[in-house]
Amino acid sequence: MRYEGLAFFFLSYVCVMNSSDFADKSRRRAYQKKKVLSAFLKKFTKEKPSYGKKIMKESEQVAWALIDCTSCGNCCKTMTPTWKKAEVNRLASHLGMTYNEFFEKWLMVDEETGDICNNSTPCQFFDLEKGLCGVYELRPHDCATFPHLYRSDFYDQTELYASNLHRCPATLTAMEHLEQAVKEIKKKK
Ligand code: SF4
Ligand code: SF4
Repeated sequence: MRYEGLAFFFLSYVCVMNSSDFADKSRRRAYQKKKVLSAFLKKFTKEKPSYGKKIMKESEQVAWALIDCTSCGNCCKTMTPTWKKAEVNRLASHLGMTYNEFFEKWLMVDEETGDICNNSTPCQFFDLEKGLCGVYELRPHDCATFPHLYRSDFYDQTELYASNLHRCPATLTAMEHLEQAVKEIKKKK
């Protein structure tokens, strides 16, 4: 099997699941594979293969071809974005609030990192019925780029990918594809 063809395998796998139990099944799969995928990511990061960029990009594309975030919403339900001050100002002003009003109602500063975060989960802007972000056009950059898969410093993000395997089905799918692709490439060598 050529590693490009692995997309078919993943597509078949995802299609048999309906959206209601999608996140739970994905989480269980992540826990089963966490050890193997985490070890793979460690090795992948250490080796930094020349083809890494190409297959990471492809793995992200495979994940987004298979995963529909509107069937999941897990990041909005269980995690917090980090906010830039300008993003808080922009949304506060859109909602007719001051920065301080917005901050006091919904945000806090993480003591360890100094990041501005939500003070509770699910996110105050997540519409649980529709499974959609209620401020999509004005959401923070961190939300728009999550789960930060293909980027120039992706080798520096592999610990984050490992820690998000059970949280984000797109991350899990991308890392599964990545692992299989590397196996196929190594087999051919
Ligand atoms: S701002 Fe929108 S995208 Fe970001 S966590 Fe909240 S609901 Fe999700
Ligand atoms: S980014 Fe990941 S966790 Fe968030 S909705 Fe999409 S698949 Fe789910």
